[in-house]
This record gives sequence, structure tokens and C-alpha cells, in this order.
Amino acid sequence: MTGPLSFGGPPAAPGVVYLVGGGPGDPGLLTVRAARLLSTAGFVAHDRLSPSQALALCPDGCERVDVGKLPDRHGLSQDEIGALLVERAARGQAVVRLKGGDPFVLGRGSEEAQACAAAGVPFEVVPAVTSAVAAPAYAGIPITHRGVAPGFAVVAGHEDPTKPAAQVDYAALAAFPGTLALLMGVGRIGAIAGALMAAGKPADTPVALVRRGTTPRQETLVTTLADVGEAVAAAGFGPPAVAVVGDVVGLRDRIAWFESDHAGWVRERRPLHGCSVLVPRTRQQAGELSRRLAALGAEPVEAPTIAIEPTRDRQGLRRRLRELGDGAFDWVAFTSANGVRAVSAEFDEMGADARLFAPTAIAVVGPGTADAVRRAGLRPDLVPPRYTTAGLAEAMVAGAPPASALLPRADIATPTLARGLRDAGWRVTEVEAYRTVAVRDLDPGVRRRLEDGDVDVIAFPSSSTVRNFVDLLGGQVDDRVRVAAIGPVTAGTCVERGLRVDAVARPHDLDGLVGAVVAAARTPAG
Ligand code: SAH
Repeated sequence: MTGPLSFGGPPAAPGVVYLVGGGPGDPGLLTVRAARLLSTAGFVAHDRLSPSQALALCPDGCERVDVGKLPDRHGLSQDEIGALLVERAARGQAVVRLKGGDPFVLGRGSEEAQACAAAGVPFEVVPAVTSAVAAPAYAGIPITHRGVAPGFAVVAGHEDPTKPAAQVDYAALAAFPGTLALLMGVGRIGAIAGALMAAGKPADTPVALVRRGTTPRQETLVTTLADVGEAVAAAGFGPPAVAVVGDVVGLRDRIAWFESDHAGWVRERRPLHGCSVLVPRTRQQAGELSRRLAALGAEPVEAPTIAIEPTRDRQGLRRRLRELGDGAFDWVAFTSANGVRAVSAEFDEMGADARLFAPTAIAVVGPGTADAVRRAGLRPDLVPPRYTTAGLAEAMVAGAPPASALLPRADIATPTLARGLRDAGWRVTEVEAYRTVAVRDLDPGVRRRLEDGDVDVIAFPSSSTVRNFVDLLGGQVDDRVRVAAIGPVTAGTCVERGLRVDAVARPHDLDGLVGAVVAAARTPAG
């Protein structure tokens, strides 16, 4: 393996529990070890604080369970989580427990390690970037600074400081000569500030709360110890946030760099900072749109609307693949990464491998499909200059005299490629390699975000995604959500389904759609 992931060590092993820190939210802050383990896991237990985009690394077929405790909904208790990890490892699964931040910084990862140790289950700990340091850093607040704070203390803030049994010694903290980083403390910040001031900490000590740090929706509130309780209440500032107490907060004025109301260059490059964009998509489809939106500072929220299922004609597919291995076709042409994966999976089942392709030239429709071919250990012989099935037909026909081609495709596929080749005298064999089916339920995380008003824009890449998404939702989209459509047909479907369209892409491609999202994000909500 090449690339950064090659530093990530061995893949997740069956029967082992990996207690993996996922960092504070920005997927770029994952460690390479964490990425390696996630991309090879068989079972992943995550919660509300584990960075959601990291889950996109899980391989197809990896089982994912949200064990998160939600304020109003039932989650698993700490003991139940420990038992679940142990049980899955004992079953022989490669288990990743994905935590937010660092697993051993107020993350109860050590309790999960104890559960594994007690059960005799092997485990590994993957430390990570903690929100205690990273959230302030993204707000332009260095947790230490020469001449200002020679050290820092990370403290749990969820205890009631007025209770006699409180574990946190506020007198010692008030005297501590460095920065305090309080986690889990938003709800009690007024009482904590009171306890610190009562113990002698000056009332004008600067305080900053950094919410959803390192994510596109990071927000920072700057105040003082005396005012923090009221300021938090007035702003309706909720968790998760790190509260930073100390003079380092003052450095933010000069070195804040990430949030859009600071540092102009970040804003220019990140016109979608702070914006969450719902992207209806097929689960396996390359997340090109999400990647482009994230590069502009948005938080993409992916909602699978279509699932990929095996073909109903396995025997037929197998027969064609055997013929392929026997050299029956001059070319095989892939029009999607899903087709490549379906064929590789069938090879696997047949006990065969990429050598079956030896006699055959490989054509692909575009770079995404080319990547999938490379991941299968092969090299595409032809990628057309225009990444469409029509472009592929043209390029194949132009490059060679009429020949024979196998087209492994979806159950629903446009006839363009087959027709283009046949018209030029080619012998074409089509075979259903996989099926696309509508998913039955909207992802619960996505539904929750829509209900909570946590989606700013929906980007529709096709009419069928509009129909599928509206059916899955089974209700109205909130008026405040803005809608961007890839073209006039998709926009028409939106209107038919009762959605207001705020921006239509021009040109009608991914670039255009990204532009439409930026435009939609700028139109006033509702
Ligand atoms: N193990 C985690 C902390 C878990 S305790 C770590 O190392 O970061 C949960 C608390 O962490 C939250 O209540 C909040 O105070 C803080 N937190 C986690 N992620 C955060 C984020 N992205 N921004 C701000 N605070 C965060």
C-alpha cells in the first residue's frame, strides 16, 4: 500500500477491540492509525461525539452501531457498551470503538479497556487529538503561551461544584498558574465560575467557550468569569463546548484563523463555513460532491437514498465472467465503481481473481470508476476525455476497429453505451452486475438533524434522489432549509414534490451544483 495510510500499521484484526480516538470533529485530524483501523473494521461502535465523517471510511458490509447516549433517547449504559465490545470481539469481529477526541481524556475509554481486560479480550488503544487542546486552537487560543500560561489543566465540568462530594478541588484550580480547559461544563458554567471566583480567581479572568470546535459549525463566545453564566444563557450557547479560562483567551484577537468572522483568507476559501449541506446519495457512491463541499468549509451530511444489491442473475454474471477469463471479449467496459465492485466480489466468490482479466482490455467511464479498477489491482486501458457513457462509446469506437465488449452494468442503465458500440459494428454483451434499490428508511442521524433544524441546504444531484428523499422523509421539509438542484429537470421534480428551489446549477454538473449550494446558502432562510 502507498500513501499516508501505509503509516497506519496493520489492519484491524478479528477478535480484537480497538479503542480509537476520532479527534474533535475535523476528519483531517484523525490519526492515520485511526483511519487504517476504521477502513478495515468489521464492527464499529460510535456515539454522538465521534466525528461522523470518519464513519465514511468503514468498508462496505461493516456493521455500525450508535451506542450514544442522547439526552432524550435511550442509549447504552457504560457497562452495556463494554459488554457489547467484548461480545462482538468474542464472536470474531474486528471491533472499533470510535470515541470523540482522545479515548482516555474524560472519555471513559479506560473503563472500556478495563472491561476488555476483565474478559480477557485483546485490545489496543489509539490516542488522538483531544478537543481540550484542538477546539481552542481552532478558535485562535493557544492552550499555553510563553509568559502567559506555562501549563494547562483539563477538568471535567459536569459535577455540581456546590455538592460536598464533588471531586474537583476548585480552590486548587483557582490557584493553578495556567490555563483551565473545562469539558462537559456548559450547563454548569455559571456555578463553576462562581466557585472559582469564591476561591480567589479574579472576576475579570477571560473565558472563551468553543462549541463544535474544529467543525464547520464551530462557534466561539468570549466573556469573563464574572459574566460567563449570563452570557451563555443569553446566547443560548449549548454543548458540546470547551470552556477555556485564562489570559491566553486574549491572544485570539490577533491569531484567530478558522472562523469566518475572523481572518479574511479563511472566509474566501471557505464560503460555506458554518453551513451543513445534506447530500442524498447512494451509500457506495464516491462522495465527490461531499468532498468538494467540505473543501469549501461546509459540513456534508450524507443521506443514503439508494442501496446497491447483488444481481438476481448470479449464474448469468458468473457465466459471462468465465467467458471473460477465456478471452471471449476484447474489451470490458465499466460505467460505475459499483459495477467494478460487483464484478470483483463475484470473482472472489468464484475463487478467482484479477488474473481473469488478463486477455481483456479495460475501459472505464471516468476517474471514479478508474480508481475502483485500480483498487481491484488493475489498470484501466482507456478513460475517455469526456466522462459520460456517450463519451466512452465515442472513445472506444475511435480507438479500434469493431470488436467485442462485455458491459457489466446496473439493472437500470441507459442504453447509450451499448447502442453507440453496436451502431459502430461492435458485438456487445450486457450483463446485470448489480441492482439499485431504494433504501427503506431515512438514516436516523439525518432525520434527527432535519428535525433539529441542523441542515442549512439540501443539494439534489438528480430527479430520482429528490423523489427517493421526499418519500423517505415522509413529510415536509422545514421552510428554513434551502434547496439547490443540479438542473431544471431536477428543480421541476423538487417543485412537484412541494420543495422550494433556491438555486439551480449552471452548468448542470457537479461544479455547477457546488456553485448553486453556495448561492442557496446566501439566500435568506425561509
Ligand atoms: N475524549 C474527549 C472528551 C470527551 S468528554 C476529548 O478528548 O476531546 C465530552 C466533552 O468534550 C464535551 O462535553 C465537550 O466539552 C468536549 N468536546 C468534545 N468534542 C468537542 C468539540 N468538537 N468542540 C468542543 N468541545 C468538544
